[in-house]
Amino acid sequence: MRIAVTGATGHLGGLIIDKLLARDVAPSDIVAVVRNEEKAQDLAKQGINIAVAAYEDESALAKAFDGVDRLVFVSASEVGKRIDQHTNIVNAAKSAGVAQIAYTSLLNLDSSELFLAPEHVATERLLADSGIEHVLLRNGWYWENYVSGLETGKSLGKFFSAAGEAKVSGAARADFAEAAAVVATTDGHAGKVYELAGAPALAYPDIAAQIGQVLGKDVEYVNQTPAEYEEFLRSAGVPADFAAGLASADPVIEQGALYSESTDLQDLIGRPSSSVVDTFQQA
Ligand code: NDP
Repeated sequence: MRIAVTGATGHLGGLIIDKLLARDVAPSDIVAVVRNEEKAQDLAKQGINIAVAAYEDESALAKAFDGVDRLVFVSASEVGKRIDQHTNIVNAAKSAGVAQIAYTSLLNLDSSELFLAPEHVATERLLADSGIEHVLLRNGWYWENYVSGLETGKSLGKFFSAAGEAKVSGAARADFAEAAAVVATTDGHAGKVYELAGAPALAYPDIAAQIGQVLGKDVEYVNQTPAEYEEFLRSAGVPADFAAGLASADPVIEQGALYSESTDLQDLIGRPSSSVVDTFQQA
C-alpha cells in the first residue's frame, strides 16, 4: 500500500513519516509531498519517494498522488489561503483515485469559535462532498506551541497569555503524528471523527509552573488583556495578522475551545500522551 504525506518537510509531516517507518512501512511505499526538493534530501536518502508539488498547483498534486492508496493530508500552514489550497489537494486526490484521506483538522471543530476553525470546517465539507473515504484527525494544541514560554521564562521570569485559567488538552506533535500513522496503516477508520486530546489537561497557570520546573526558577503567570497580549506578541516578532489571531483566540481558549475529555488519542496510540515537561525538556 502506497501512503502519501503532505507537508512532509514540516514538523508534523516529518514526524508522521518517522512513525510510518517505525510501523514497518517500507520507504519505497511512502510518498513525501513537498514544495522544496532541497529540504527533502534527508527523506530521499532514506529511500522515500519525493513528489514536488505546491498546494497552488493542482496538476502537480494529482501527479504526486498517482498510485497513492492513502493520503495523510496535513493541513496547510498559511491561514487565509487554505481553502483554495485544500480544494486543490482534494480535487487532485479525487482525480488520482486516492482511496482514503486522513485530514488533520481541529479539536472540537463542531463548536469551535477559534479563528482557525472556518478553514477546517470548509475542508471537512470539501472532503464530505468529494465522496472519497476519509478520516478526520481533529488535533488538539501542540505542547510545542508553549515552547516560546521557555524564552520569556528564562529572560523575564514570566509566561504571558490572555487565556485566563483556560485548560488545554495538549499533546506533543509526535503523539498526533503517531495517531495519523496508526490510522494510515490500519483498517476500520473510514468515516471516523477522532477528537485528539492529550491528558491530563493543563491550566495556563500550571503551564507556567511547568516552565519554572524545567528552568529551575519561579515563573510568574501573567494573564494579559487580548490587546496587551497582541502587543506583546508583535514585540516578540510575531507577524501582525497572526498576533491578532492568536490574541483573539485566547478568550475563546478560556471558554474551553482546546479542552476535551476524549480518549481517542490515547486509544489510537495505545499509550498515554506525552507531558508538556517532556516537550520542554526536548526543546
Ligand atoms: P510546519 O509549518 O512545520 O509545516 C508546514 C508544511 O506545509 C511545510 O512542509 C511546508 O513546506 C508545507 N507548505 C506550506 N505551504 C505550502 C504550499 N503552498 N505548498 C506546499 N507545501 C506547503 O507546520 P507543522 O508541521 O507544525 O503543523 C502542521 C499543520 O498543523 C500546519 O500546517 C497547520 O495547519 C496545523 N497547525 C496546528 C497547530 C496545533 O497546535 N494543532 C499549530 C500550528 C499549526 P516548507 O517546508 O517548504 O515550508
